[in-house]
Amino acid sequence: MSKSLVNAIENLEDYVKKLETVVNIDSGTTDTQGVTKVAKQFVQWFYDIGFYAEEVTFDDVVGHGVFATNDKNAEHYDLLLSGHVDTVFAHGTAAERPFRREGNLAYGPGVADMKDGDLIILWGLTKALVNGTLEGKKVAVVLNPDEETGSTHSSEFIDKIAKKSGYALIFEGSEEIDNFTEARKGISHIDIFLKGRGAHAGFCPEKGRSAINAMANCIQRINALANENVTVNFGVLKGGTIANAIAEDCYARIDVRFWNNEQWEDFLAKFKHEFEIPFGQDIKASYKILLVNPAMVVTEKTAKLKEIVTKALTKFSITPKFIRSGGVSDGNHISNTLTPVLDTFGGRGGECHTTREWLDLTSVEPRAELLVEILKQL
Ligand SMILES: [Zn+2]
Repeated sequence: MSKSLVNAIENLEDYVKKLETVVNIDSGTTDTQGVTKVAKQFVQWFYDIGFYAEEVTFDDVVGHGVFATNDKNAEHYDLLLSGHVDTVFAHGTAAERPFRREGNLAYGPGVADMKDGDLIILWGLTKALVNGTLEGKKVAVVLNPDEETGSTHSSEFIDKIAKKSGYALIFEGSEEIDNFTEARKGISHIDIFLKGRGAHAGFCPEKGRSAINAMANCIQRINALANENVTVNFGVLKGGTIANAIAEDCYARIDVRFWNNEQWEDFLAKFKHEFEIPFGQDIKASYKILLVNPAMVVTEKTAKLKEIVTKALTKFSITPKFIRSGGVSDGNHISNTLTPVLDTFGGRGGECHTTREWLDLTSVEPRAELLVEILKQL
């Protein structure tokens, strides 16, 4: 390894040491200091392998992200590599259950979602630098600070880089080594507010207009809009104050998921139509769309990227299965820029977002090598 590559990952032990370092820094999305600390660490590591690397700042409510590239002045990148430095775990989790290795398995908050994947990007690029694969190629790396809460603050920045990139790969993990994600459902969250009229349930119930009863009707009618492609989930419901009063207010929050954006538009039109028909006598109904994250879809251009990945995987005797997932990632908004994108190039791991989250350490070097093989195809 050339002398400029100080502190680089040369073997699995180096990788594990770095993984332990970042897993033991709490970086739940709202823990902005922790997130920034992890970002600073990655900036240093990319700088160490000779990349241009900088912290990217967003609104104050989120921590910093990472942007790294082997060509600072590039107008176009052959490949965008996307990861995130935030986790879903509260401050103090790393102290409670720090990084732990048992044979080939590693445990700890964010070990598989996705500090492993961020380091696979670093390792793969290090390998590509050392063996010359990166010569003449331009790559960009973005690690964002708020993926776990929908990338609300960073998606614009990621998409700006994606638009300048030929292809994009995301390094989330997967339980199956031959599974790669080509499509993800889009998602919307909507708040529903129903207002009736409060009244004493004993003295004058006839004067009341129950918002809860109206919501029961609303739940049935909105759930009926679901079909084989669109799911609706009433995830939060709040209404009324005490048992002996007719409830004046009722509130619900729903999660809607869809495979493509036409299905979403179709659902939304029908949803709006339902709000033109009363949910009960004298009931005022309103709604607020909190977020719409577009679906990650397969396009004609994705076929070429799948071909590249399939070819690269022959070295590992793996025939890929390209799967569809109901969960969202940064692939959703990247796909919306029309840059072909595939996901789950991270390590083999699972039970993410739980205390049992695990990573198979035997999977990470082959994944770093896969990145090299993909770069060779570009
Ligand atoms: Zn993730």
